[in-house]
Amino acid sequence: MTRYERLLKDLPANPKTWLITGVAGFIGSNLLETLLKLDQNVIGLDNFATGHQRNLDEVQDLVTEAQWQRFNFIEGDIRNLEDCQIACANAHYVLHQAALGSVPRSINDPITTNSVNIGGFLNMLVAARDANVKSFTYAASSSTYGDHPDLPKVEETIGKPLSPYAVTKYVNEIYADVFAKSYGFKTIGLRYFNVFGKRQDPAGAYAAVIPRWISAMVKNEQIQINGDGSTSRDFCYVENAIQANLLAATAFPQSKNNIYNVAVGDRTTLKNLFQMIKEELEDRDLMYMLEPCYSDFRQGDVRHSQASIIKIRDELSYCPIYDVRQGLKNGIIWYLFNDANS
Ligand code: NAD
Repeated sequence: MTRYERLLKDLPANPKTWLITGVAGFIGSNLLETLLKLDQNVIGLDNFATGHQRNLDEVQDLVTEAQWQRFNFIEGDIRNLEDCQIACANAHYVLHQAALGSVPRSINDPITTNSVNIGGFLNMLVAARDANVKSFTYAASSSTYGDHPDLPKVEETIGKPLSPYAVTKYVNEIYADVFAKSYGFKTIGLRYFNVFGKRQDPAGAYAAVIPRWISAMVKNEQIQINGDGSTSRDFCYVENAIQANLLAATAFPQSKNNIYNVAVGDRTTLKNLFQMIKEELEDRDLMYMLEPCYSDFRQGDVRHSQASIIKIRDELSYCPIYDVRQGLKNGIIWYLFNDANS
């Protein structure tokens, strides 16, 4: 039995209280669903900046009434210290997901991204430290590798940030490290690599590539590839990210004050991704006949990204269960049922 399988077995008999910030968002609502299904108590904090009430409603439909009663939602803002203090008060484990994502958003509005992602992060660190939580796990980002060309990306070797968003995620790591040195408050940062799956928002200017494309292709609209299609990413299905969060939160103390890549350890070009989505839709009798249109490479984007997952595998016993293809198979089903008619 893997450590994760054991954890999934043990948690229901031993419920803990988890705080998920950004709970109405994509990753946050998936964490919520998993934890409630494991009969855990969950406090959720969100200001609906990019998250949605419909994500919480959907989770409510997927769990039992008794499990839903274990969820306490606080509508609040991580830029407000008091909101963070109230949210942290009774939490054993903090899974800090709230932030403004998207490289282009941060280029258009660096001030708001900075205040949420850095000011809000600092508030959460202070509140969690003062509440004596058992562990603080936070969403870091592969964007921290910046302009460093090496592949695969190894945690210890980073380059210079390529966007304001990347700066904020790097500053999170620096703050987390300083909190360990200054207060002995140890955290775990999870550098997510292009996480995708159900409830990831397909709409708006800042939507991520997979939900945007699936949503467009289901509606038979043309998709756009930024660059020549050779850009590659280590696309990571959300269930793998959930596994990483639960393993990190409950990790042994020696794993704390650490950063880990969360990915599959593989690389898919945008051209291949398009082909895979097309094939998955064909398997469901949806023929997509349009060719993508190509535009310029996007400012602030790294050209290639692939993680080494050796560290998280060795130290947290992480073992990704879903590759890109399997993740797409699962994820597409949700978009077919939930987004096609919207
Ligand atoms: P998301 O936008 O779906 O979720 C973020 C949530 O945070 C939203 O519900 C939003 O309303 C909430 N939020 C934003 N500002 C807030 C504030 N001031 N106070 C309270 N709540 C606030 O994004 P996601 O993809 O689920 O990302 C979750 C985390 O993972 C973020 O920290 C993001 O930077 C990080 N991350 C995501 C990816 C990815 O591929 N999805 C990759 C790297 C890092």
